[in-house]
Amino acid sequence: MADKRDYYEVLGVGRTATDDELKKAYRQLAKKYHPDTNPGDKEAEAKFKEASEAYAILSDADKRRQYDQFGHSAFDGSGGAGAGGFDFSSMDMGDIFGDIFGDLFGGGRSRRANNGPMQGANLRTAVRISFEEAVFGVEKELELNLKDECGTCHGTGAKPGTSADTCQKCGGKGQVVYTQQSLFGMVRNVQTCPDCKGTGKIIKDKCADCYGTGFISSKKKIKVSIPAGIDGGQSVRIRSKGEPGTNGGPRGDLLVEVEVSRHPIFQRQDYDIYSTAPISYPTAVLGGDIKISTVDGDVIYNVKPGTQTDTKVRLREKGVPSLRNKAVRGDHYVTLVVQVPTNLNSEQKDLLKKYDDALTGKSEHGTETSENDKGKKKFWK
Ligand SMILES: [Zn+2]
Ligand SMILES: [Zn+2]
Repeated sequence: MADKRDYYEVLGVGRTATDDELKKAYRQLAKKYHPDTNPGDKEAEAKFKEASEAYAILSDADKRRQYDQFGHSAFDGSGGAGAGGFDFSSMDMGDIFGDIFGDLFGGGRSRRANNGPMQGANLRTAVRISFEEAVFGVEKELELNLKDECGTCHGTGAKPGTSADTCQKCGGKGQVVYTQQSLFGMVRNVQTCPDCKGTGKIIKDKCADCYGTGFISSKKKIKVSIPAGIDGGQSVRIRSKGEPGTNGGPRGDLLVEVEVSRHPIFQRQDYDIYSTAPISYPTAVLGGDIKISTVDGDVIYNVKPGTQTDTKVRLREKGVPSLRNKAVRGDHYVTLVVQVPTNLNSEQKDLLKKYDDALTGKSEHGTETSENDKGKKKFWK
């Protein structure tokens, strides 16, 4: 161990570095040399290990003091430190990594014992509603199988008159500690107890009504208030209608995902509605009132003379109300599509020919404009 580098040098900090400075320096090195980011790179691995060791020592006030006084000999068992050698393998690297990497690699470690009060899991279900129901909101009643605490055993899962035993494997803690050989020596790993599944208890005589689960399922009717403006794929959360908690924990939530049926006329994008409306050729040419369907019912729209097919018009605030504020609504965009008549009778065809001749005549002579206009008006009425 004679060629071992100075811990302060390894981390690139001064001997008076604060805890924050140490942490910062280590984070930078750990990020750079972490095996996950340098797969197969032995040098990076060695550097990572070296930095980890340096940080493990210097971040611990006692060990740092010993190191400052005796150097590496404080920990290599060769004496020097009256306090005795430091056994690197006994360190809980998990704690250090939880601390350092919790926000670095997004991992974090859940160390929560799960034999304490725990919130129940969230339940998920779906409900189908119509296009209009999504626009204006609706109240639906769902029938769901919901678990409740078993009345016979009061949730213990044990046959009345008996009680659950403390789990032998974990001593009732609900978790077991494994030590594992790793890059850094022995690493402690905390896992949910496989025998009691984290409850800390073993039930020998199970309650006959709930089969030892402590819960009974029954059909329940639940009202869901679906707000105006909701869109397909969004969910409504109903607090405390999920799975019951354990050991006195609160219930989870119920998440109701909304599916919206297609509408024969309307399409929706965010808070705007889109549709098409047919207009006759005469209306396109001469203008006139047409009826347009909206989610608020029919509205009368005045088509301007000379409207081309595929003209888009906007009906302000005839769209979907905002989920956040019902009073704010999107718009309704209507594409006006000019209809071409397909089955005219001979009289109508004749008139259309005359109309065409009139147009051609106009272009040939370039006069009699007022006559032509009159003819058009008569023709289409
Ligand atoms: Zn029971
Ligand atoms: Zn156990």
